[in-house]
Amino acid sequence: MAGVRTILKGGRVVDPVNGIDGQADLQLDDGYITQVGQNLKVNPGSLVIEVPRGCVVCPGFIDMHVHLREPGQEHKETVATGVAAAVAGGFSAVACMPNTDPVNDDAGVTGLILARAAQAGLARVHPVGAVTVGLAGERLAQLGELRAAGCVAVSDDGRPVADTILMRRALEYASMCGMVVIDHCEDVSLTEDGVANDGFQAALLGLRGMPAAAEDIVVERDVTLSGMTGASVHIAHVSTRGALDAIRLGKERGFSVSCEVTPHHFTLTDDRLSEYGANYKMNPPLREQTDVEAILEGLRDGSVDCIATDHAPHHYDEKLAEFDRAPFGVVGLETAVSICLDRLVHPGHVSLSRLVELLAVNPARILGVAGGALTVGTPADITVLAPELAVTVDAQAFRSLARNTPFDGWALRGGVAATIVGGRSVYVNELVDGAVQFETVASDR
Ligand SMILES: [Zn+2]
Repeated sequence: MAGVRTILKGGRVVDPVNGIDGQADLQLDDGYITQVGQNLKVNPGSLVIEVPRGCVVCPGFIDMHVHLREPGQEHKETVATGVAAAVAGGFSAVACMPNTDPVNDDAGVTGLILARAAQAGLARVHPVGAVTVGLAGERLAQLGELRAAGCVAVSDDGRPVADTILMRRALEYASMCGMVVIDHCEDVSLTEDGVANDGFQAALLGLRGMPAAAEDIVVERDVTLSGMTGASVHIAHVSTRGALDAIRLGKERGFSVSCEVTPHHFTLTDDRLSEYGANYKMNPPLREQTDVEAILEGLRDGSVDCIATDHAPHHYDEKLAEFDRAPFGVVGLETAVSICLDRLVHPGHVSLSRLVELLAVNPARILGVAGGALTVGTPADITVLAPELAVTVDAQAFRSLARNTPFDGWALRGGVAATIVGGRSVYVNELVDGAVQFETVASDR
């Protein structure tokens, strides 16, 4: 198929960076976008794909917070199964956290992840390196070497950079290397052995609590440090009203602060804990209604920059353990887009254009990676949405190796029709009428 020009015809194109929201055609050549406009001319030999009725053509979505578990825990997920899940969920790229075994605090581990991603050839993979050696929180990793090996950001995710002077140095060095520090904000002296939000539900069920203040305090510190150093900080998986207030204040003061929220934190509260399943156990924990409302407010008013899944695959047996002992985390790659369409777009919290900012534009900008726009001359990474598609979540059908989702069985309005990476169709949803045409998108690989 190499060399064949492809035209995606007749879709609604939503591309906020280029100010497009309306009917337009896209022309692809050799994996790149070569023209965007209305009624593009079709030359003989070009392949025309009619975008299915009602579908929306967007810049490829980027999930900036996933755990792919390779190397070291391939029974939970591999790079290959993780990127298969990503493209089935509409993500053309993911950024993967360094808490593998060995930790990605070394150029060799970064290289291995990138090699596995290239073998899989589905979603693009942007490794996130460790801030500290072994995620131990003691000594800075070689940030420059990680950058040179292909890391796009650094984080000790799973835990915070607890030591304040170390965090200051991390911000300064990372910024010199052109990387953002992504912080998992938790004062572990306050959360200690906690397993659930410290509130009425945890008290009722006799679960050890993790107070919202443990998150707020570290977010406030990071915002202050960002102001002090001028370096960029990105707050991972914000779950509390207090944390959002601190981020909003930092932005008002002109600090380089950004943040992400997860689909589970804007749809679920700790009321679910009475169901007692370990698929409601994550860190930060499910919070209270006031926190969910604060996140929705942040999604509406722009204080939230991104939606990321914190996709955290675990083996079935591990999540079967009693709540106290089960590991933290849920998968999210294959449910996020449907949750966002059903819970954010259809109820009117955010427009499709704002959703594209949250899932594509801002993740690309914060990580400094390609993508986020359908600009002529850039790689053709495209997510095609079917906003009216009726979707029922079926964890057994996931491409991910893991099934630990709190959304199994949910009926949702909206889904993914196709995912295109570098001009190559890497996922097509056969449940969308006419979407199968995307399988013929021309490829340069
Ligand atoms: Zn985390």
